[in-house]
Amino acid sequence: MDHFKELSDIIEAKKEEFFDLSDKIWGFAESRFQEFESSKLDAAYLESQGFKVKLGVADEDTALVAEYGSGKPVIGFLGEYDALSGLSQQADVAEHVPIQAGCDGHGCGHNLLGTADLAAAVAVKELIEQGKLKGTVRFYGCPAEENAAGKSFMVRAGLFDDCDICLTWHPGWMNQVNGNGSLANIRVFYTFHGLSSHAAGAPHLGRSALDAVELMDVGVNYMREHMIDEARIHYAIINTGGTAPNVVQSEAQVLYAIRAPRVGQVMELFDRVSDCARGAALMTGTRVDIKQVSACYDCIGNDVIAGRFMENMDKLLPIDYTEEELAYAKKFQGAITELDRASLKNAAKRIAGKDAAKLLEQPIWNFRVPGYAKSGGSTDVGNVSWVVPTAQFGIATLAAGTPGHAWQVVAQGKGSVAKKGMLTAAKLLAVTAFDFFTDEKLVQAAKDELAQRLEGETVPDALPRDLKPMIW
Ligand SMILES: [Zn+2]
Ligand SMILES: [Zn+2]
Repeated sequence: MDHFKELSDIIEAKKEEFFDLSDKIWGFAESRFQEFESSKLDAAYLESQGFKVKLGVADEDTALVAEYGSGKPVIGFLGEYDALSGLSQQADVAEHVPIQAGCDGHGCGHNLLGTADLAAAVAVKELIEQGKLKGTVRFYGCPAEENAAGKSFMVRAGLFDDCDICLTWHPGWMNQVNGNGSLANIRVFYTFHGLSSHAAGAPHLGRSALDAVELMDVGVNYMREHMIDEARIHYAIINTGGTAPNVVQSEAQVLYAIRAPRVGQVMELFDRVSDCARGAALMTGTRVDIKQVSACYDCIGNDVIAGRFMENMDKLLPIDYTEEELAYAKKFQGAITELDRASLKNAAKRIAGKDAAKLLEQPIWNFRVPGYAKSGGSTDVGNVSWVVPTAQFGIATLAAGTPGHAWQVVAQGKGSVAKKGMLTAAKLLAVTAFDFFTDEKLVQAAKDELAQRLEGETVPDALPRDLKPMIW
């Protein structure tokens, strides 16, 4: 039997189980390093399917590795299940109605992401069990993709050292294969310590930590003129030192996210940002503690894997949507801002040229967008891509134009459009894994390409050696 049909049939036969997992994880909505229920659920399911499961790896209680089979090749799927802070939202409602205000929600669709990777692993496992494939299939349950780069700790712990190929995907509103280049990204806390005093009675006895934060931010904002265009630096003042203007603030803290195309460039910028912090401390007579808490590397693309994704995606698309599903997507298109609409129009022009107006009539973009997707964000899939040939793709699970990291993503995360996307992603992951299980030369070509792209560069040492995964 054709392996497309065989793998698709396995996934279809178990689809209700996968929907149940995805919906439950959507409901748990657990953010970074708190994915206790989500990881337990995946671990229990994989165990029930005959996988050997280790939950709690790489100093991360909510990370898991599940494998089936033996020997080479070892092919891994990268699952995620973390939610985003403050994005609680009711399902299927096209207006912002939180289930519980201030609580978390699946604003990046990782309930679908992780479940499709798990489904692909289960489908491949069935073929190994039937003796139709030889090798090891592995599911990595990776926590804290958002904000803390959970995979970076798994890479550091050596969990990918014997892996030959890694595959994954991301939900979105375009069907497209990713190329090179998410941005490398590190996060750093700068905590200033000063001296408190009466701001009017004894200002000369105070040393303001808040002044230091402000001066540091000003310094960094001037620095922007003198850094590469592609770099991005963001900050959030986490602690202003209190709410009383008549007390000199003795403690203040700012969290920086520093991004650039390559991790080496990020480390250079990190030094310069830290110089701004040290300069601000000197100016204000305060002291600064610098604590880096994460390191996301840039993604090294892989044309060998990406080529297989493209060819296989073309065989799996288009997805068969019902009139109700198209109407559902249209309803959500009515809930985006004018800015998002303008961005959607730009995307349509870029992709369809003079046929842009026709494309904009389609509430779900049901075709493969040619070429490579380029991400302006960051992902810890990058860390894996430095040690294992890795590639990823996007499959539409959302109405075209839906903004990322927004309540609209949460709202659509349990719908049938999302679920059809999830199953398509699972099939694409499984059939592509099949290509590598059955062709040693293809595995070698992907490895050769990674070596070529690295040009002898070693894996960057951007994660502080003594840093443990932490909730912050
Ligand atoms: Zn995200
Ligand atoms: Zn994501």
